[in-house]
Amino acid sequence: MYNGIVHFIRKIFNEPNEFIPLHVPCLNGNEKKYLSDCIDTTYVSSVGKYVDRFEEIVAEYTGAKKSVVCVNGTNALFLALKLSGVEIGDEIITQPLTFIATANAISYCGAYPVFIDVDKSTMGLSPEKMKTWLNENTEIKNNTCLNKATNRRIKACVPMHTFGHPVHLNELVNICYENHIDLIEDAAESLGSFYKDKHTGTFGKIGILSFNGNKTITTGGGGMLLFNDEDLAAHAKHLTTQAKIPHKWEFNHDYIGYNYRMPNINAALGCAQMEQLPFFLKNKRDLTQQYIEFFKDRDEIFFVEPKDCSSNYWLNAIILKNQEERDSFLNITNDNGIMTRPIWKLMNKLPMFSNCQQGDLSNAQWLEERIVNLPSSVRYEN
Ligand SMILES: *Cc1c(COP(=O)(O)O)cnc(C)c1O
Repeated sequence: MYNGIVHFIRKIFNEPNEFIPLHVPCLNGNEKKYLSDCIDTTYVSSVGKYVDRFEEIVAEYTGAKKSVVCVNGTNALFLALKLSGVEIGDEIITQPLTFIATANAISYCGAYPVFIDVDKSTMGLSPEKMKTWLNENTEIKNNTCLNKATNRRIKACVPMHTFGHPVHLNELVNICYENHIDLIEDAAESLGSFYKDKHTGTFGKIGILSFNGNKTITTGGGGMLLFNDEDLAAHAKHLTTQAKIPHKWEFNHDYIGYNYRMPNINAALGCAQMEQLPFFLKNKRDLTQQYIEFFKDRDEIFFVEPKDCSSNYWLNAIILKNQEERDSFLNITNDNGIMTRPIWKLMNKLPMFSNCQQGDLSNAQWLEERIVNLPSSVRYEN
């Protein structure tokens, strides 16, 4: 029954025989030129004009006051949590339906993830479920949100914009504000996604992006922190560069810093990729439109962007009827050389996080059994 889909995907990717991957980079712009420039000038490492330029371009595009590059998205998220003051023993609210990096970054801080359900309309953190959990489990004392059962502080909340679809940000911003919780957006998947005309990753204290090879744009590997607070951004930059106080020759450091600097060659790729971002987004939206048309008359439900949002449609997704149908869909497509993939296993089911606190996770469970990603790369031809 899924042969029609195999045929359709081969047609829209204009690829009658070869393997069709889920998402591959498109490097047809100035990538080679900028890389050659790095090599010709010997600026291949952590100092160079592309680093500064890349930060400026992305800040301007997203509307963030400042951005700071980082070696990857996972470390950017870890640093964002540290910068917001997360300490050992704090609790951090996040969603169970996410890529492992979100929960890992929380753990690197010595903090504990608390898993709150997602909404079916966004696949991201649910404001209502969060409100319910906070009402039942926490109290505010001295402008601090405390978990009544553990007596630990709820310091931050990390929603994630699944596959580029923005969560209900207005509601989350309000809940976080009312409860003295810092909002840190994991916008790793949502470069080019807007919530009511404002770019994802710019609603909270800090947002982070990833430029891994499978993301909407890539720097090979890389990440970025987005700030509305310039002083905090300056401090972030300082920490990513071993907290070295600038001086002509002296080694002087004033914090335990990190070597999280993105090399100039990676930033050079980033500059070339950003030039093509509008084209990527349009191209991906064309593909999505074709998927929408195709699935209109079928039993599978194509996942469309939430209301008032413009998604980057990083990875297109469909909802199957149940887990059995999901598995047979995965089998038939992958056996026929078309890469499709289920959504992540819920974080609370992994051994490292199985003891974490959690609210009612019925939506996440429902989606875990049904969601499948379809090939979503930028297409050159057609
Ligand atoms: C890709 C991704 C990250 C960061 O990944 P890196 O590979 O470290 O750049 C973080 N969170 C989510 C949800 C992601 O998809």
